[in-house]
Amino acid sequence: MAVKLPIYLDHAATTPCDPRVVEAMLPYFTIVFGNPGSRNHRFGWEAEEAVDTARGQVADLLGADPKEVVFTSGSTESNNLAIRGAALMYEKAPAGSGQPRGHIISAIHEHKAVLDPCKRLQKEGFDVTFLEPPKDGIITAEAVAAALRPDTVLVTIMWANNEIGSINEVPRIGALCHERGVLFHTDATQWAGKMPVNVERDSIDLLSMSGHKIYGPKGVGALYVRRRKPRVRLVPLQDGGGQERGFRSGTLNVTGIVGLGKACEIAKAEMDADGERILGLRRRLEDTITGRLDVTQINGHREKRVPNITNISFGFVEGESLMMAVKEIACSSGSACTSASLEPSYVLKGLGVGDDLAHSSLRLSLGRWTTPEQIDYTAGAVVEAVSRLRKLSPLYDMHKEGIDVSKVEWAKH
Ligand SMILES: *Cc1c(COP(=O)(O)O)cnc(C)c1O
Repeated sequence: MAVKLPIYLDHAATTPCDPRVVEAMLPYFTIVFGNPGSRNHRFGWEAEEAVDTARGQVADLLGADPKEVVFTSGSTESNNLAIRGAALMYEKAPAGSGQPRGHIISAIHEHKAVLDPCKRLQKEGFDVTFLEPPKDGIITAEAVAAALRPDTVLVTIMWANNEIGSINEVPRIGALCHERGVLFHTDATQWAGKMPVNVERDSIDLLSMSGHKIYGPKGVGALYVRRRKPRVRLVPLQDGGGQERGFRSGTLNVTGIVGLGKACEIAKAEMDADGERILGLRRRLEDTITGRLDVTQINGHREKRVPNITNISFGFVEGESLMMAVKEIACSSGSACTSASLEPSYVLKGLGVGDDLAHSSLRLSLGRWTTPEQIDYTAGAVVEAVSRLRKLSPLYDMHKEGIDVSKVEWAKH
């Protein structure tokens, strides 16, 4: 049977909603439409009940207490609330005192939704250390330990990287932070719902997750906020009705929250089987591509990666032509379209991948409904495209003849 095109291999950007999630959400648009804040009638109570159920489902996925779950609009908001909220709550010196207001540790290859709140705090008088990962992309507990200072208020290190899938040493970093009495936040958007989490075992104080990366709806997410040992407090980002223990004012997005809860329930039940199947497909994809093409490189750690992400660089092809040549495969390139120019991915650059290889890289991210037929088609299409583009490359010819192209001295003109 012919494969239906285009093929979606961009699940790290967003996932389709699971039909079981949509079904669970539907009654909450029209029938149970109440405001959970309405305390004096059935419409409100039933909406509140639905939110409570979802809170339990999210907590269950994380090994948390339902009271520790704060619903947000997604991981961007969760990250902002965690980082800004904790920094402002626990600052060591007031603004304008001449001392740093506090110290934060993060890493250069975090998502923008972590980097930018950190940079804003930096402008406002906090010191921030952005750790630089080794080539495998993994931030170790030792790297964090070496950066800790007496005035460190927060460590924020993502669990799995969204571009390369590499897994940071989160449980070890959490244990270190707890030992030193420093709060630990992790952006678990690419981890929670795919791999096991237990906030107690993993020593996590704050954890961000998002509905639309785990087959739930867009525009809803959660922040786990530890309530004991230690009890974490946060300065809220917005003021209003005091919902969500005052951490996040605003009428709750009941339909979205019901969807997130259902997505978490399904994820918990199916993650082992899904993960294993998806890992098998990714291996098949990587083995076919690297087996049939030379001068390719898989970015990030070979083993310590989430099962659904692969990021491959292809030598001797031009990035834009490669993307054009595989248009029927919906995936991401190693180039980020900034306003005017095509910049190589800061994540790949952060791992020391050169600009050319960063531009000519593809992030392929698999999902719940990815089939072996889609993977075989994709592998074939990529191999064909790269081979065709290399036929046009004099540099690749020179490489084949055994010339070290990086050492060639080009004539100046
Ligand atoms: C997608 C993503 C985000 C942003 O999440 P939204 O819910 O879209 O705001 C943050 N961090 C990581 C690692 C992501 O992959």
